[in-house]
Amino acid sequence: MRFQAAVLRSYENPFTIEEVTLRTEPADGEILVEIAGCGMCRTDLAVRRSAGRSPLPAVLGHEGAGVVVRTGGGPDTAIGVGDHVVLSFDSCGHCRNCRGAAPAYCDSFASLNLFGGRKEDLPRLTDAAGGALAPRWFGQSSFAQYALVPARNAVRVDPALPLELLGPLGCGFLTGAGAVLNTFGAGPGDTLAVFGAGAVGLAAVMAATAAGTLTMAVDRHPRRLALAERLGAIPLPAEAAGLPERIRRLTDGGAQYALDTTASPPLINDALRALRPTGTLGLVARLPTTLPLEPGTLDRGRAVRHICEGDAVPGLLIPRLTGLWQAGHFPFDQLIRTYPLSDINRAERDCEEGRVVKPVLLPEGRSR
Ligand SMILES: [Zn+2]
Ligand SMILES: [Zn+2]
Repeated sequence: MRFQAAVLRSYENPFTIEEVTLRTEPADGEILVEIAGCGMCRTDLAVRRSAGRSPLPAVLGHEGAGVVVRTGGGPDTAIGVGDHVVLSFDSCGHCRNCRGAAPAYCDSFASLNLFGGRKEDLPRLTDAAGGALAPRWFGQSSFAQYALVPARNAVRVDPALPLELLGPLGCGFLTGAGAVLNTFGAGPGDTLAVFGAGAVGLAAVMAATAAGTLTMAVDRHPRRLALAERLGAIPLPAEAAGLPERIRRLTDGGAQYALDTTASPPLINDALRALRPTGTLGLVARLPTTLPLEPGTLDRGRAVRHICEGDAVPGLLIPRLTGLWQAGHFPFDQLIRTYPLSDINRAERDCEEGRVVKPVLLPEGRSR
Protein backbone atom coordinates (compact mmCIF):
# COMPACT_ATOMS: atom_id res chain seq x y z
CA MET A 1 0.00 0.00 0.00
CA ARG A 2 1.04 3.61 -0.61
CA PHE A 3 0.69 6.54 1.74
CA GLN A 4 2.24 9.83 2.78
CA ALA A 5 5.11 10.02 5.22
CA ALA A 6 7.68 12.57 6.37
CA VAL A 7 11.11 11.25 5.37
CA LEU A 8 14.42 12.43 6.82
CA ARG A 9 17.08 11.90 4.15
CA SER A 10 20.06 13.68 5.66
CA TYR A 11 21.14 14.76 9.12
CA GLU A 12 21.24 18.43 8.04
CA ASN A 13 18.28 18.96 5.72
CA PRO A 14 14.55 19.39 6.37
CA PHE A 15 12.06 16.52 6.32
CA THR A 16 10.41 15.88 2.94
CA ILE A 17 6.80 14.77 2.54
CA GLU A 18 6.84 11.78 0.20
CA GLU A 19 4.71 8.91 -0.97
CA VAL A 20 6.11 5.69 0.49
CA THR A 21 5.20 2.06 -0.14
CA LEU A 22 4.63 -0.57 2.52
CA ARG A 23 5.47 -3.88 0.89
CA THR A 24 4.11 -6.36 3.44
CA GLU A 25 0.91 -7.22 5.26
CA PRO A 26 1.03 -7.47 9.08
CA ALA A 27 2.88 -10.63 10.13
CA ASP A 28 1.97 -12.66 13.22
CA GLY A 29 1.92 -10.36 16.23
CA GLU A 30 1.77 -7.17 14.15
CA ILE A 31 -0.93 -4.60 13.51
CA LEU A 32 -1.39 -1.92 10.87
CA VAL A 33 -2.45 1.39 12.41
CA GLU A 34 -3.95 4.42 10.64
CA ILE A 35 -2.19 7.25 12.47
CA ALA A 36 -4.48 9.94 13.90
CA GLY A 37 -1.65 11.99 15.38
CA CYS A 38 2.01 11.67 16.29
CA GLY A 39 3.92 13.73 18.82
CA MET A 40 7.38 15.11 18.09
CA CYS A 41 9.86 14.13 20.80
CA ARG A 42 13.40 15.39 21.47
CA THR A 43 14.69 11.94 20.53
CA ASP A 44 13.33 12.37 16.98
CA LEU A 45 15.32 15.57 16.62
CA ALA A 46 18.41 14.06 18.28
CA VAL A 47 18.78 11.80 15.21
CA ARG A 48 20.38 14.81 13.54
CA ARG A 49 23.14 14.67 16.17
CA SER A 50 23.47 10.86 16.21
CA ALA A 51 26.73 11.01 14.23
CA GLY A 52 25.36 8.58 11.67
CA ARG A 53 24.32 5.93 14.19
CA SER A 54 20.60 6.23 13.39
CA PRO A 55 20.34 5.09 9.76
CA LEU A 56 18.79 7.31 7.07
CA PRO A 57 16.70 7.75 5.03
CA ALA A 58 14.09 7.08 7.67
CA VAL A 59 10.52 7.76 8.68
CA LEU A 60 10.83 8.93 12.29
CA GLY A 61 8.02 9.53 14.80
CA HIS A 62 7.52 7.41 17.90
CA GLU A 63 4.55 8.97 19.68
CA GLY A 64 1.84 7.66 17.38
CA ALA A 65 -1.81 7.03 18.17
CA GLY A 66 -4.40 5.72 15.78
CA VAL A 67 -6.96 3.14 14.74
CA VAL A 68 -6.11 -0.49 13.98
CA VAL A 69 -7.04 -1.26 10.38
CA ARG A 70 -5.50 -4.76 9.95
CA THR A 71 -4.04 -7.40 12.22
CA GLY A 72 -1.68 -10.27 11.49
CA GLY A 73 -2.98 -12.76 14.03
CA GLY A 74 -0.67 -14.67 16.33
CA PRO A 75 -0.46 -14.84 20.11
CA ASP A 76 0.04 -11.12 20.80
CA THR A 77 -2.93 -9.77 18.88
CA ALA A 78 -5.52 -9.37 21.58
CA ILE A 79 -5.97 -6.08 19.75
CA GLY A 80 -8.56 -6.06 16.97
CA VAL A 81 -9.54 -4.03 13.93
CA GLY A 82 -11.21 -0.76 14.95
CA ASP A 83 -9.46 -0.55 18.30
CA HIS A 84 -7.97 2.81 19.27
CA VAL A 85 -4.34 2.42 20.31
CA VAL A 86 -1.43 4.45 21.66
CA LEU A 87 1.96 3.23 20.40
CA SER A 88 4.98 3.07 22.67
CA PHE A 89 8.61 1.97 22.47
CA ASP A 90 9.79 -1.41 21.16
CA SER A 91 11.27 -4.20 23.28
CA CYS A 92 12.18 -7.82 22.59
CA GLY A 93 9.81 -9.42 25.12
CA HIS A 94 12.13 -12.25 26.16
CA CYS A 95 15.34 -10.85 27.70
CA ARG A 96 15.79 -10.78 31.46
CA ASN A 97 14.53 -7.19 31.89
CA CYS A 98 11.53 -7.66 29.57
CA ARG A 99 10.54 -10.75 31.56
CA GLY A 100 11.00 -8.69 34.74
CA ALA A 101 8.44 -6.07 33.59
CA ALA A 102 11.18 -3.52 32.82
CA PRO A 103 10.89 -3.29 29.01
CA ALA A 104 12.52 0.17 28.92
CA TYR A 105 15.75 -1.60 29.93
CA CYS A 106 15.42 -4.31 27.28
CA ASP A 107 18.82 -5.69 26.26
CA SER A 108 17.94 -4.73 22.68
CA PHE A 109 16.45 -1.29 23.46
CA ALA A 110 19.06 0.75 21.58
CA SER A 111 19.14 -1.44 18.50
CA LEU A 112 15.34 -1.86 18.29
CA ASN A 113 14.43 1.77 18.93
CA LEU A 114 17.33 4.01 17.96
CA PHE A 115 19.93 2.40 15.77
CA GLY A 116 18.25 0.58 12.97
CA GLY A 117 15.40 -1.63 14.14
CA ARG A 118 15.05 -5.24 13.07
CA LYS A 119 17.19 -6.05 10.04
CA GLU A 120 14.48 -8.36 8.66
CA ASP A 121 12.27 -5.25 8.34
CA LEU A 122 14.71 -3.52 5.99
CA PRO A 123 12.93 -4.00 2.64
CA ARG A 124 9.41 -3.38 3.97
CA LEU A 125 9.13 0.37 3.52
CA THR A 126 10.43 1.93 0.30
CA ASP A 127 10.32 5.35 -1.32
CA ALA A 128 8.71 6.19 -4.67
CA ALA A 129 11.89 5.14 -6.52
CA GLY A 130 11.92 1.75 -4.78
CA GLY A 131 14.82 2.64 -2.45
CA ALA A 132 14.70 1.03 0.99
CA LEU A 133 13.98 3.23 3.99
CA ALA A 134 15.43 2.41 7.41
CA PRO A 135 13.57 -0.25 9.41
CA ARG A 136 10.94 1.19 11.69
CA TRP A 137 12.00 3.73 14.29
CA PHE A 138 11.01 2.80 17.87
CA GLY A 139 9.00 -0.03 16.33
CA GLN A 140 6.72 2.60 14.76
CA SER A 141 7.83 5.24 12.21
CA SER A 142 4.63 7.19 12.87
CA PHE A 143 5.31 10.46 11.00
CA ALA A 144 3.09 8.90 8.36
CA GLN A 145 -0.51 8.07 7.51
CA TYR A 146 0.04 4.42 8.52
CA ALA A 147 2.43 2.47 10.72
CA LEU A 148 3.02 -1.27 10.86
CA VAL A 149 3.91 -2.05 14.48
CA PRO A 150 4.34 -4.99 16.85
CA ALA A 151 1.05 -5.43 18.74
CA ARG A 152 3.26 -5.66 21.82
CA ASN A 153 3.97 -1.90 21.52
CA ALA A 154 0.30 -0.91 21.28
CA VAL A 155 -1.95 -0.03 24.21
CA ARG A 156 -5.70 -0.06 23.66
CA VAL A 157 -7.48 3.08 24.89
CA ASP A 158 -11.07 4.23 25.41
CA PRO A 159 -12.53 5.39 22.05
CA ALA A 160 -14.13 8.35 23.87
CA LEU A 161 -10.64 9.89 24.36
CA PRO A 162 -9.23 12.49 21.88
CA LEU A 163 -7.17 9.92 19.95
CA GLU A 164 -5.14 12.37 17.84
CA LEU A 165 -3.66 13.94 21.00
CA LEU A 166 -2.77 10.73 22.87
CA GLY A 167 0.48 9.74 21.12
CA PRO A 168 2.83 11.62 23.51
CA LEU A 169 1.50 9.41 26.31
CA GLY A 170 3.63 6.70 24.66
CA CYS A 171 6.98 8.45 25.25
CA GLY A 172 7.45 12.06 26.42
CA PHE A 173 4.59 12.31 28.89
CA LEU A 174 5.12 8.67 29.93
CA THR A 175 8.75 9.49 30.76
CA GLY A 176 8.02 12.43 33.07
CA ALA A 177 4.94 10.96 34.73
CA GLY A 178 6.53 7.53 35.11
CA ALA A 179 9.60 8.97 36.84
CA VAL A 180 7.32 10.47 39.49
CA LEU A 181 4.75 7.69 39.83
CA ASN A 182 6.92 4.60 39.20
CA THR A 183 10.53 5.44 40.00
CA PHE A 184 9.99 7.82 42.91
CA GLY A 185 6.54 6.60 43.96
CA ALA A 186 5.94 10.19 45.10
CA GLY A 187 2.87 10.90 47.18
CA PRO A 188 1.37 13.40 49.63
CA GLY A 189 4.01 14.85 51.94
CA ASP A 190 6.82 14.28 49.43
CA THR A 191 8.72 17.06 47.69
CA LEU A 192 10.02 17.20 44.12
CA ALA A 193 12.18 19.67 42.21
CA VAL A 194 11.93 19.38 38.41
CA PHE A 195 14.78 20.85 36.38
CA GLY A 196 13.66 21.81 32.87
CA ALA A 197 10.00 22.56 32.16
CA GLY A 198 9.69 21.00 28.70
CA ALA A 199 7.30 18.19 27.81
CA VAL A 200 8.98 15.64 30.10
CA GLY A 201 9.43 18.05 33.01
CA LEU A 202 5.88 19.38 32.80
CA ALA A 203 4.48 15.83 32.67
CA ALA A 204 6.41 15.22 35.90
CA VAL A 205 4.89 18.39 37.38
CA MET A 206 1.36 17.27 36.43
CA ALA A 207 1.85 13.76 37.82
CA ALA A 208 3.38 15.06 41.06
CA THR A 209 0.60 17.61 41.51
CA ALA A 210 -1.95 14.84 40.92
CA ALA A 211 -0.15 12.73 43.55
CA GLY A 212 -0.32 15.53 46.14
CA THR A 213 3.45 16.14 46.10
CA LEU A 214 4.83 19.65 46.68
CA THR A 215 6.53 20.46 43.37
CA MET A 216 8.99 23.10 42.19
CA ALA A 217 9.92 23.70 38.55
CA VAL A 218 13.21 25.26 37.42
CA ASP A 219 13.62 26.74 33.92
CA ARG A 220 15.21 29.65 32.05
CA HIS A 221 12.10 30.62 30.09
CA PRO A 222 9.46 32.75 31.88
CA ARG A 223 6.71 31.31 29.66
CA ARG A 224 7.61 27.74 30.64
CA LEU A 225 7.68 28.76 34.30
CA ALA A 226 4.24 30.35 34.00
CA LEU A 227 2.94 27.11 32.48
CA ALA A 228 4.53 25.06 35.27
CA GLU A 229 2.91 27.33 37.83
CA ARG A 230 -0.48 26.88 36.18
CA LEU A 231 0.03 23.11 36.44
CA GLY A 232 0.71 23.33 40.15
CA ALA A 233 4.46 23.91 40.58
CA ILE A 234 6.30 26.70 42.40
CA PRO A 235 8.23 28.44 39.56
CA LEU A 236 11.98 29.04 40.09
CA PRO A 237 14.19 30.83 37.50
CA ALA A 238 17.24 28.67 36.64
CA GLU A 239 19.73 31.54 36.63
CA ALA A 240 18.81 32.91 40.05
CA ALA A 241 21.63 32.81 42.60
CA GLY A 242 21.21 30.49 45.55
CA LEU A 243 18.80 28.13 43.80
CA PRO A 244 19.62 25.02 45.92
CA GLU A 245 19.27 27.04 49.14
CA ARG A 246 15.93 28.36 47.96
CA ILE A 247 14.67 24.83 47.27
CA ARG A 248 15.95 23.62 50.66
CA ARG A 249 14.06 26.48 52.36
CA LEU A 250 10.84 25.69 50.49
CA THR A 251 11.08 22.01 51.42
CA ASP A 252 12.13 22.14 55.06
CA GLY A 253 15.71 20.97 54.47
CA GLY A 254 15.75 19.65 50.92
CA ALA A 255 13.60 17.95 48.30
CA GLN A 256 13.11 14.19 48.61
CA TYR A 257 13.24 13.89 44.82
CA ALA A 258 14.73 15.84 41.94
CA LEU A 259 14.29 15.15 38.25
CA ASP A 260 16.74 16.54 35.71
CA THR A 261 15.63 16.83 32.07
CA THR A 262 18.35 19.29 31.03
CA ALA A 263 21.61 17.23 31.03
CA SER A 264 23.36 20.41 32.20
CA PRO A 265 26.18 19.53 34.67
CA PRO A 266 25.84 22.80 36.67
CA LEU A 267 22.08 22.27 37.06
CA ILE A 268 22.61 18.60 37.99
CA ASN A 269 24.98 19.73 40.75
CA ASP A 270 22.35 22.28 41.86
CA ALA A 271 19.73 19.50 41.86
CA LEU A 272 21.92 17.33 44.11
CA ARG A 273 22.57 20.23 46.50
CA ALA A 274 18.81 20.81 46.69
CA LEU A 275 18.14 17.23 47.87
CA ARG A 276 17.61 16.28 51.48
CA PRO A 277 19.74 13.43 52.93
CA THR A 278 18.53 10.12 51.37
CA GLY A 279 17.04 12.10 48.48
CA THR A 280 17.11 10.73 44.94
CA LEU A 281 17.97 12.52 41.71
CA GLY A 282 16.62 10.99 38.51
CA LEU A 283 18.28 11.74 35.16
CA VAL A 284 16.25 11.32 32.00
CA ALA A 285 18.36 13.12 29.38
CA ARG A 286 21.43 11.59 27.76
CA LEU A 287 24.56 13.35 29.06
CA PRO A 288 26.68 14.79 26.24
CA THR A 289 29.74 15.19 28.48
CA THR A 290 31.30 13.70 31.58
CA LEU A 291 29.51 14.74 34.73
CA PRO A 292 31.78 16.34 37.35
CA LEU A 293 30.18 16.15 40.80
CA GLU A 294 31.23 18.78 43.26
CA PRO A 295 32.47 17.61 46.68
CA GLY A 296 29.71 16.80 49.11
CA THR A 297 26.90 16.57 46.57
CA LEU A 298 26.52 12.79 46.97
CA ASP A 299 26.97 12.61 50.74
CA ARG A 300 24.44 11.38 53.28
CA GLY A 301 22.57 8.69 51.40
CA ARG A 302 21.81 10.74 48.31
CA ALA A 303 21.43 8.70 45.13
CA VAL A 304 21.53 9.35 41.41
CA ARG A 305 19.90 7.06 38.92
CA HIS A 306 19.10 7.08 35.24
CA ILE A 307 15.45 6.65 34.26
CA CYS A 308 14.43 5.42 30.81
CA GLU A 309 10.82 5.77 29.58
CA GLY A 310 9.64 6.46 33.14
CA ASP A 311 10.33 2.85 34.22
CA ALA A 312 6.98 2.21 32.58
CA VAL A 313 5.14 -0.84 31.44
CA PRO A 314 3.16 1.19 28.87
CA GLY A 315 0.10 -1.06 29.14
CA LEU A 316 -0.17 -0.15 32.82
CA LEU A 317 0.90 3.50 32.92
CA ILE A 318 -0.92 4.83 29.83
CA PRO A 319 -4.40 3.84 31.13
CA ARG A 320 -3.47 5.39 34.47
CA LEU A 321 -2.59 8.68 32.76
CA THR A 322 -5.75 8.74 30.63
CA GLY A 323 -7.73 8.02 33.79
CA LEU A 324 -6.07 10.96 35.53
CA TRP A 325 -6.82 13.15 32.48
CA GLN A 326 -10.49 12.14 32.54
CA ALA A 327 -10.60 13.09 36.23
CA GLY A 328 -9.08 16.51 35.42
CA HIS A 329 -5.73 15.81 37.10
CA PHE A 330 -3.35 15.37 34.14
CA PRO A 331 -4.19 18.13 31.61
CA PHE A 332 -1.56 17.09 29.04
CA ASP A 333 -3.66 18.51 26.19
CA GLN A 334 -2.70 22.02 27.42
CA LEU A 335 0.91 21.34 26.36
CA ILE A 336 0.04 20.30 22.80
CA ARG A 337 -0.14 22.31 19.59
CA THR A 338 -1.24 20.45 16.46
CA TYR A 339 0.25 20.86 12.99
CA PRO A 340 -0.58 19.17 9.69
CA LEU A 341 2.08 16.50 8.98
CA SER A 342 3.10 18.59 5.93
CA ASP A 343 4.18 21.35 8.38
CA ILE A 344 6.67 19.06 10.15
CA ASN A 345 9.59 21.42 9.50
CA ARG A 346 7.73 24.33 11.09
CA ALA A 347 6.91 22.08 14.06
CA GLU A 348 10.59 21.22 14.42
CA ARG A 349 11.60 24.90 14.31
CA ASP A 350 8.96 25.85 16.87
CA CYS A 351 10.13 23.00 19.09
CA GLU A 352 13.84 23.91 18.82
CA GLU A 353 13.09 27.59 19.50
CA GLY A 354 10.90 26.81 22.51
CA ARG A 355 7.68 28.19 20.99
CA VAL A 356 5.79 24.95 21.58
CA VAL A 357 6.08 22.35 24.33
CA LYS A 358 4.72 19.36 22.43
CA PRO A 359 3.97 19.48 18.71
CA VAL A 360 1.57 16.80 17.47
CA LEU A 361 1.49 16.12 13.74
CA LEU A 362 -1.79 15.22 12.08
CA PRO A 363 -1.58 13.27 8.79
CA GLU A 364 -3.61 14.47 5.81
CA GLY A 365 -7.35 14.15 6.29
CA ARG A 366 -6.87 14.37 10.04
CA SER A 367 -6.04 18.07 10.27
CA ARG A 368 -8.32 20.13 12.46
ZN1 LIG B 1 14.03 -7.37 26.00
ZN1 LIG C 1 10.52 10.02 22.84
